[in-house]
Amino acid sequence: MNAKAAPDGVAFDDIQVERPQLDAVATAYRELHAGWEKASDAAERVAVFRDWDALRRRVSSWSAYTRLRFDQDTSDADRKAEIDYLDDIAPKLARLETDFQRTLLASAHRSDLERALGAHVLKLWEADVATFAQEIESDLTRESNLETTYTELIAGANLAIDGEHVNLAGLEPYLQKPDREARHQAQLVRDAFFTANGAELDRIYDELVRLRHTMARALGFDDFIGLGYKRMHRIDYDRADVERYRDQVARDIVPIAAQIIERRRAALGIDQAMFWDEPMADAGANPAPQGDAEWIVAQGAAALSKVHPEIGGLFRMMVDRGLVDLRNREHKAGGGYCTSFPDYGVPYVFANFNGTHGDVHVLVHEMGHAFQDWQSRYLPALDYLTPTMETAEIHSMSMEYLAAPHMEAFFGSDAERYRHQHLEDALLFLPYGVAVDHFQHLVYAAPESGPAERHAMWQRMEARYLPWRRYGDLAYFARGGLWQAKPHIYQAPFYYIDYTLALCCALQFWARSRREYQRAVDDYIALCRRGGQAAFLDLVRSANLASPFDGTALERVVEEARSALSLA
Ligand SMILES: [Zn+2]
Repeated sequence: MNAKAAPDGVAFDDIQVERPQLDAVATAYRELHAGWEKASDAAERVAVFRDWDALRRRVSSWSAYTRLRFDQDTSDADRKAEIDYLDDIAPKLARLETDFQRTLLASAHRSDLERALGAHVLKLWEADVATFAQEIESDLTRESNLETTYTELIAGANLAIDGEHVNLAGLEPYLQKPDREARHQAQLVRDAFFTANGAELDRIYDELVRLRHTMARALGFDDFIGLGYKRMHRIDYDRADVERYRDQVARDIVPIAAQIIERRRAALGIDQAMFWDEPMADAGANPAPQGDAEWIVAQGAAALSKVHPEIGGLFRMMVDRGLVDLRNREHKAGGGYCTSFPDYGVPYVFANFNGTHGDVHVLVHEMGHAFQDWQSRYLPALDYLTPTMETAEIHSMSMEYLAAPHMEAFFGSDAERYRHQHLEDALLFLPYGVAVDHFQHLVYAAPESGPAERHAMWQRMEARYLPWRRYGDLAYFARGGLWQAKPHIYQAPFYYIDYTLALCCALQFWARSRREYQRAVDDYIALCRRGGQAAFLDLVRSANLASPFDGTALERVVEEARSALSLA
């Protein structure tokens, strides 16, 4: 259990993690095996489980802490060394962990755990043991090293624009400039970075794909797709469901997305919407927060409290206790995420504020993750604290919609424009999201393909799901290179569809919140409290949402969106 948890949280500076030494952890596992053997009744077996869970929470906290510290300064040699140690030891720890999971799963007394913890945890362990065998240990280390190489390469981008030097996250405000030629220039700078680094990015991905395929074969899968799904702990749906869902996005969403692009083109008064025009909802500047990072933080607690006082209270606690790092700076890794320290029971939000509306978006989104994590901290198994990702992203994306009525706090009189654009952006995101997913299915089904074939695969995806896209003189992107900007493709294979499945659910919360706000919030909070105690479709049903796979959920969302956006 999370032994060091306090009801009002813990300060980041007080969090102490311990670098696990392999010998000591191996000894602990020998004792766990012996304890399980010796246990004579259900209570003693559950006690052995609790010791194991506490050990896993300690290791998990160290791992989260190590990754966070590296992301905060990717140029720090000590932090890099600690990440290398983590990459090296993680597969060895996975071996000890899956060995013990195998013992529990094969035990005649597994029902004792099922009664105490619920049946779902055993299914999660079955997925875990299917993804690991000792012979892939060194491949796993190599895989982590390659993922870190990608992070370093992207974080190291030093781009000259308007007499300044920025990284890729720092380029974002330039990509949204109201001046069309300025946006175009910023995309040219981005395109040039990928032109210069494309060969290395191809090399990293090529090795990752082959490595992942080799591991899948060693574990008895036909290809990495099967292994990738197991790694994501997908228990109650399969690749055929996902394929049907992508087809529905092509059928139901691509047409309305094309209409949105057309409306943006007309609003901008231009002949053709180019890639650099897509982010602009109209000719005015995109809505931007009316203050700096500090001001956004100050506004944040009040706005989140309007969704629910506990959510605002959690944010206030996290800021007071140093559990957020929000500003973009040199050598900081890109992106935004919520991580957590499970033996302390506190979440942590990492972001890269850059002055755009993305700052508010990422803050609210990550606070959805943080709230679920905080609500779930006393659940009895580490496996339940973070649900599978398509569920976890419901928590974050739904928070965006439940907080939407309170956006005046950040955008003042521009709040309605923000809400409008946020909804449009969601509809534009769905085709892109399934393109990223479909691309990876093509890649891993043909692992012998080379870089040129992969770029051609991405072009096919753009033609199917993003038919309006025009790259003009962005030569590298025009040749099918944009996928390399998406970290998930390198670091979290098959994760991406989860954002779109979750968005299909979050948009249902949005539609409901327009009619019955309080009931939507109540269902949302109940869903967060359940954490990861059940599989995706079970949780979706319990929150009074339709399954994204039922064939009509997207259709109904589109209907509501058409009316909200006044699109015929
Ligand atoms: Zn998220």
